[in-house]
Amino acid sequence: MHDKTSTTAHRRTTPGRRKFLGLAAAGAAAVGTAGVGWAAFASDPAAPPRTFHTQGGIDRRKRAMTRILNATDPTVLAAWITGTGSAPDAIKTEMDTQVDALADAAATGTGTARDAVLASWVRTAATQRTIWDRKYEFLHTGSGGAGTFGIITDEVRAKYPTQLGSDPQWDPDMDSHSEVWQSMTSEERQIEILRTSTAPGVSRHHLGSDADFFDTTPQDWTDDGPEAANYKWLRANAARYGFLQTYTAKSAEAHPAISEERWHWSYAPVTEAVLEFTRGNQDVIADALAELWSYDPARYTYIEENWRDYMFHVNEKVYFG
Ligand SMILES: [Zn+2]
Repeated sequence: MHDKTSTTAHRRTTPGRRKFLGLAAAGAAAVGTAGVGWAAFASDPAAPPRTFHTQGGIDRRKRAMTRILNATDPTVLAAWITGTGSAPDAIKTEMDTQVDALADAAATGTGTARDAVLASWVRTAATQRTIWDRKYEFLHTGSGGAGTFGIITDEVRAKYPTQLGSDPQWDPDMDSHSEVWQSMTSEERQIEILRTSTAPGVSRHHLGSDADFFDTTPQDWTDDGPEAANYKWLRANAARYGFLQTYTAKSAEAHPAISEERWHWSYAPVTEAVLEFTRGNQDVIADALAELWSYDPARYTYIEENWRDYMFHVNEKVYFG
């Protein structure tokens, strides 16, 4: 699973930092030169969660993640990133630890039941494909659909004012919405879905580093909505565990991009390293996506042209208050 490339990585140890006892886990093969035998990058499964206080701390951890990526076969990484494979073991362990730590803290900090904190965490490409297909086909709740989805964009609303009115979300159970959807092109449908969902292969939920907290109903996350207090807590505390809000009002200004999502948070050391890898290996990712979409490429014409923007137009700064 891992490339056994030997590396001569070097880590400077600073006083006060938790000692890094690397596991000789799957493929991590480097031996330190500083007298402390540390095996490159693997993290101890029993290790306590990491905490962060500055962007510099995030950046240092990201470089450790990058070293693991550099020692792994790019096609293996592409399978993980596009939702058909797994993360390198050491990265998976770290993501699990950090997501759990933030979820535990969020439960305590907001007085929410622990099992209600994570609305969604890891989704495979296969799961994301069922979401994509259900929305693309605009299935009624009774025929395999699942209620309302996404935000109706201003562009489409302006085109169909009488049918859509001021309805905030698409609703396959409403005949007027269904009528509009049927008259839209494949590209228009994809753009609407992409405002709040991603295509199989492009979802950040494939990674294991990203999770949706509390609830994902967009209108509940306004400044005075029912999730406002939970959002305030995340803004104040998620950075401590290395998390950033992936889709912000600012990142949503780019076109195309995912709308602001106050519930979706990413473990930045991993996602920043993955973004860098993806930017540098676009052909490998494109091949993996083409394979994934080969069952019906007509549903993916627009995202095929634009997946880079949806992956890259994201917030990359951790908010330390
Ligand atoms: Zn999400």
